[in-house]
Order: sequence, then structure tokens, then C-alpha cells
Amino acid sequence: MKRLGVLMMILLGFGCRPEPATEYDLIISNVNLIDGTGSPLKEVISVGIKEGKIKALAKALKGKSNTYLNGSGKYLIPGLFDCHIHTIDYQKDFPKFMHYGVTSVFITGGSLCTDAYYAEMREHGEQDSIPAPRVFHTSQHFSMEGRHPSKTYPSNQWRDGESIFYLKDTLQIEGLVQRVAQHPNTGIKLTIEDGPHPPFVERMPFEFVEKTVKEAEKYDLEVFAHVSDNEELAMAIRAGVQNLVHFTGVDLNPNNSIQVQLLSEFRKRDPSWVTTLMIDKSFWYPLYPDWFESKSLLPEYQAMRKRVTEKSKWFATAYLNMYKESYGLTEDHLPVLMTPQVQDIQFLYDKGFNMVLGTDTGNDFNFHGYSLHEEMQLLEMGGMQPLDILKMWTLNAAKMLAVDHELGSIEVGKLADMVLLDKNPLEAIENTLAITTVIKNGKIQQRIH
Ligand SMILES: [Zn+2]
Repeated sequence: MKRLGVLMMILLGFGCRPEPATEYDLIISNVNLIDGTGSPLKEVISVGIKEGKIKALAKALKGKSNTYLNGSGKYLIPGLFDCHIHTIDYQKDFPKFMHYGVTSVFITGGSLCTDAYYAEMREHGEQDSIPAPRVFHTSQHFSMEGRHPSKTYPSNQWRDGESIFYLKDTLQIEGLVQRVAQHPNTGIKLTIEDGPHPPFVERMPFEFVEKTVKEAEKYDLEVFAHVSDNEELAMAIRAGVQNLVHFTGVDLNPNNSIQVQLLSEFRKRDPSWVTTLMIDKSFWYPLYPDWFESKSLLPEYQAMRKRVTEKSKWFATAYLNMYKESYGLTEDHLPVLMTPQVQDIQFLYDKGFNMVLGTDTGNDFNFHGYSLHEEMQLLEMGGMQPLDILKMWTLNAAKMLAVDHELGSIEVGKLADMVLLDKNPLEAIENTLAITTVIKNGKIQQRIH
């Protein structure tokens, strides 16, 4: 008996009964990993996912699972964020985001966006058995009667006190911010701008902007502002705004000492700035449908062609002329048109601004899910590197939304939102469209197209 006891001890001590292998819900094996942090690609990595989270990343993963995805020759990137969207039919639009790998969206107001509508969309986004992205959103627009966006985008759905707040005097702002703070808004949407194109409306007076920022600070809420030119940019910075949800219309000049001083003041606030190059491209569609359709087989584009009218062509011409004049351009060629904006974005990126991608989808010729890929192609066209673009699309977006502790990159401990690609996006950014699988919360998502 004594000898048997010793034998048992030896057997146990020398590992004859090894630890059971870790059970994962999903393993993606031997994939090329682009983790979204800006680090270079890592080859032949296996990813172990359990209970919706990334539990292990290793060259040789010890563990087993009932579900395997063979990642050989494929590329894994984090789930993507579109940080400026609108929808008036989320049940139709949410599956499109998921189809194109967009696992999180930031909704920046809209004519239907009452507290109840936002709550419905958030609830949808919390599911992982139906194709719906995670939903983050601002408050309703803080605007004024007869201004942007209710005058420039008229609809009888804009309802003061429900889907939009018309500021009548600065005293009213205290109560409105208090109301907004009771709901899970990421911040306050403040529309300073005088409209994106002619005919312009009046812009919001400075004291309204300043008071909103001051009241928001009491509740630790950040302000997400619309600006559409340099004057409004200066107003936003002087008033203490923390985030800008558009880039278009702003023209930076590194030789302008006043502007450089303003930007360095802004930088100290660690602001986020959303690109929305798709605004310009979509506004020009009625004049140049080929810019869209030459590469894309998206059926929606064909349907959109029927919506081009004389009025939309007039508007496109007015906008294009204004744009060319402001940048001193003479040629109607998409890369030429995009370059000045992308150079400004690159300048800010290099200065350490948290640059983030958004599309302002919900406007005509700007498609839910798909157009975020176009946004990236425009950045690449203007000279940015794919690795930087991918970071703007993922980790920077999560940082702006204050969820970078759990989303935005493929790192152990984070939620498993990721996209598997057939082609390498670092070789050409359009390869982000070569999607084979979309994963949200560790679950493989249904794709609709
Ligand atoms: Zn918008």
C-alpha cells in the first residue's frame, strides 16, 4: 500500500494527469493580425474567444473549441466604428452596418431621435443574435429655430423639446443640459454651423456655445459640435468644445500664427475630430456618378442614379464651386479635390489629435456601412497610410466614445468585435471590403447582402 501511495504521488507530481485544455467558444487559428493599436501586422496568431471576450492571443494556442475559423492566409482587424451616422429606419440600416463590418456606430442626432427612439436603438444594439451594431449617441441637437439642421434639412419630424432643442435664450440651457444628463448620452450635440452649403442660415451666437459647454462640464458631459468653416472652428475652440463631428469646410494654414495658437490650445484638451470626407463626395454625386460607380457594384448606387434631378445638380455645382474656391483648386478630379483636406487631417494626426472616421451617412449618396469603406479610400487617395487609417477607424473611435478599455482593438480582455478579411488592407485600403466574417461579442454575425 505504501509503495502504491508513493507511485500515485510520483504520477501526479510528474503531470501524468495534465491540466484540462482551456475550452474556448471560438478559436480563430493562424491568422495575420492587425490589432488596431497602430502596431505592425503580426503573422500566424491564434485567437481564443470565450464569453464574448478575447481571452488569448498566441502563436501556438493551447486550447480547444467546438467552433474554429481557419485564419490561414486571412487578415483579422477590429470591428469598425462609424462615428457620425444618422438613420430614420434603423431596422433596415443596422444589418447593412454589420454586413460591412461596422460593429459600432455613433449616432449624432436626427429628426426621429427622441429619448424613446434612442432607447429602442440602444436595445437593438445590445443584441448579438440579430445583426445590429453597438449604439452610442449624442443628445438631441442643441440648435435654434430656423437654423441648421431643421431649416436646411426640413422635415415635420423635427419636434422642439423631443427630437431637437431650439435654444431661445441662454438661461434655458441649464435645464436642458440637466435633462440630457439623465439619459445615457455620450455627450451633447451642438450645432454651431450656418449650414453645409448655400443658401446659408445664421450660425449660433458665441454666448450660447459657451454656456452649453459650461453647463455640460457640471455633469462631466463633453460637447460634440458641428462647425463648417474656420470662423466657427475658432468659436468652438474659444468656448471650450471638446469634440468636432465634421471636418469639411475647415481649411488649416500652418503659416497662420493665430490659427496655430488656437489649435495648440485645442490640442491640450485632448480633443477628437471626426473626418466625414464622404459629405463632399456624396454632395458631388449628381455631377460625377462615375466617381462612385466605377469600382462599386453596390445596387443602391444604381437606384440612386434615378434620384438625380436638376435641383440636385444645381446644388452640387454650387457646392463644388464653393469648395474649389475655398481651396484654390481648378480641376474636377476626385484625388485633387480630396488632397487639401487629407493633408490637414494628416497634419492634425501628426500633432497628436485623436482623429476618428465618420461618414454622415443618412444623407443621399452616402450608404450605411459601405460608405465608411469609401471614407477610408478617400483618406488613402489623399496620401494617408492604411495602418494609420485603420487606427482612426477603431481604437481612436473607441477613445472618443470613452470605451477604449473594452473596444477598439484586438487585445486580451477586450470584447471580441472583429472582422476577418480575405485580402491585406495594409496593401490597399479597399481590401477592407474583402470581408468573409463579422464577429460581434464573440459571435459570428449574419450578413445580409
Ligand atoms: Zn450629421
